[in-house]
Amino acid sequence: MIQKIYGKFANFIGLDHLAEKYTYDQDEQFGFMAKNKIPEKWVATTCGYCSVGCGLHIGVRDGKAVSIKGDSGHLVNYGKLCPKGLSEHYTLDTADRLRHPLLKHNNKFNKVTWDDALGIMLDQFRKIQDQYGPEGIGVISTGQMVTEEYYTLGKLVQLGFGTKNYDGNTTLCMSTAVAGYKRSFGSDGPPGAYEDLRLADCIFLIGANIAENHPILTCWLDANENPDRHLIVADPRATKTAMMSDIFLPLKPRTDITLLNGIMHILIMEGLYDKDYIDKHTVGFREMVEGLNPYTPEYVSEQTGLSITLIYNTALTIGKAKSVFTAWTMGVNHSDQGTETVNAINNLSLMTGNIGKVGSAPFSITGQCNAMGTRETSCTSSLPGYRDFTKQEDREDIARFWGVEESRIPTSRGLAYPDIIEAVIQEKIKGLWILGTNPLVSFPNQHLLEEAFSRLDFLVVQDGYHPTPTTKWADLILPTAIWGEKEGTYTNSERRVSKVNKAVDPPGEAKSDFDIFLAIARKLGVEDQLFPGWHSVSDAFEEWKKVSKGRLCDYSGMSYELIESVKGIQWPFPESKLSGEGLAKEAAQTRRLYTDGQFQTKDRKAIFYKVEPKPLPETPNDEYPFYLNTGRTVEHWHTRTKTGNIDLLERLSPEAWVEMNPKDAQQLGLKTDEKIRVVSQRGEIEKITLRITETIGQGQIFIPFHWHETNVNNLTINAFDPFSREPNFKQCAVKVEKYQQE
Ligand code: SF4
Repeated sequence: MIQKIYGKFANFIGLDHLAEKYTYDQDEQFGFMAKNKIPEKWVATTCGYCSVGCGLHIGVRDGKAVSIKGDSGHLVNYGKLCPKGLSEHYTLDTADRLRHPLLKHNNKFNKVTWDDALGIMLDQFRKIQDQYGPEGIGVISTGQMVTEEYYTLGKLVQLGFGTKNYDGNTTLCMSTAVAGYKRSFGSDGPPGAYEDLRLADCIFLIGANIAENHPILTCWLDANENPDRHLIVADPRATKTAMMSDIFLPLKPRTDITLLNGIMHILIMEGLYDKDYIDKHTVGFREMVEGLNPYTPEYVSEQTGLSITLIYNTALTIGKAKSVFTAWTMGVNHSDQGTETVNAINNLSLMTGNIGKVGSAPFSITGQCNAMGTRETSCTSSLPGYRDFTKQEDREDIARFWGVEESRIPTSRGLAYPDIIEAVIQEKIKGLWILGTNPLVSFPNQHLLEEAFSRLDFLVVQDGYHPTPTTKWADLILPTAIWGEKEGTYTNSERRVSKVNKAVDPPGEAKSDFDIFLAIARKLGVEDQLFPGWHSVSDAFEEWKKVSKGRLCDYSGMSYELIESVKGIQWPFPESKLSGEGLAKEAAQTRRLYTDGQFQTKDRKAIFYKVEPKPLPETPNDEYPFYLNTGRTVEHWHTRTKTGNIDLLERLSPEAWVEMNPKDAQQLGLKTDEKIRVVSQRGEIEKITLRITETIGQGQIFIPFHWHETNVNNLTINAFDPFSREPNFKQCAVKVEKYQQE
């Protein structure tokens, strides 16, 4: 203690030079670095936050992760990392890591053995299923497990528990892209590659603030040396990405479909479309074009708030470019008309022939590090390998691989995430198993969610951290290993499968999700049937390779060794006759989908859709006069269970805020930095700091969603896209008031 006080005093008067912290030394692999961060070994792995999928090395000393370095040879990031990646090792050894299974008794959590924990879980679930049927149990998983775990979990849920009510939290971010791709191209799967950002003539980002949310992708933009390269950004806010653009389109909230239709209308008028491609590879063009008639530049200008000149310039820039890469994220996906917006983006790419060639794609940038893995392998909205629950041949395929009767494979998908919550409210689902996600921050309309949770008979939460707002509601908590503590693979947004490796042991009795699934299967008595002879994730990987063979997401030519040696392989990567260097060269090549113009539909043609914008579920009115827009900040990850523990990031971004246009603030008599209250028809947040800025238009406010203390999802609306079931997080009506201390 005395030493600590002396240390602080010495530091204050300048006597302490913090020598221990700032002394440099030579690391064998990375050269000069802070001496106390030089490890005994470096472990190569992939970042566990976002879907960019950066390669990095974790430095390990005395069994602890002490440092991080970007992997300069990695094909995604070439050594660069964003602030989250650079500080990721701090997520491992924190005070709130969950170390033991915990069972709630009289409102208190007590340690239990794994054997008791799983026994109680299965007893409770069995009782519920006896009373409510097999589908009285629901499962909600995450985008942050390894692919091998999703594959294993899907099999366990469908065949072990016999419920199809299984979905991922990826429905809160990416299901719209999935549904949009399936409708247009017959299958999920982002067609392009990051290299296209470097090679495109024109990059059109719509509802994608990559500078905050996928920072390393901006390096691919910077690498584009084409002097005629154009970056077009459409976003209601002047985001950091918008500030990099050549053409910025600050459109009114939810006028993206109108803008896209307006652009296509001009392209038709100007004859700037690829007739040959349309004739050979698509259906439905004429009907789609008929639907564009009302979208004259005048009408689009009136609806979007953009000038006719700006709309014209945008259309001509797209129409005249040799290659256009159109990418989107949550600005499109977080909408109750998101799927159709994706179809409108796909229409634009198809009509200009901008798909399946260098620099061209309609490209959904995924959210979480392995949202793609769950899309490929799990049994949520599709059967593994992008197979369709409703197609008999697909069910037969899966049944054959799994050695079961086809009748055991459901003929339709189970309930999607919001419908699982609705079924809990209706007391049809009474047992819920939540893995690696924190809905008590991330789900819209929190009060309704709390209502749902209060009706459950038994809630199991499997997580790396406790307490979180969600674990507090649990009856049983199962402690898991997290990124850095387990092995497997992640797939990033460009379909690149990268290796994830274990650097340190998980704390206490925490186990990998994979080991927990095997232990559950053992207790259920189905281990030998479902996972015969399985010991490690590589067993799941080998089976998944067979299941994926011949599919769009073909992994059959991959091995862990090859993935590691070339630093990630894009699928499809079928078995090859090559070996050695030839194979490695082939593995490292950039791959795009639909290069032959053959799609995954019955007649192999892509489908145009006529898309009409529909009214928002809630618009501003006299009582609630502002549009609320929600989003992220570069320093934090989702619900801050990880980044909230990192001092560096917390210091950079310690609290949530509200962005408001100066004219609105003046009208309300509000000053920057003052605490305010924001209210919607569903709830309120109090004591949140106001930032007055012209980056946001009049009549709109923006709040980041990471903080449970000022949870923007108290305000958001529970309205969902009919195809994807993704929430309309981006727009609802709110009012803003001065905060009055009671
Ligand atoms: S851009 Fe994404 S993957 Fe890369 S370091 Fe940052 S969080 Fe990790």
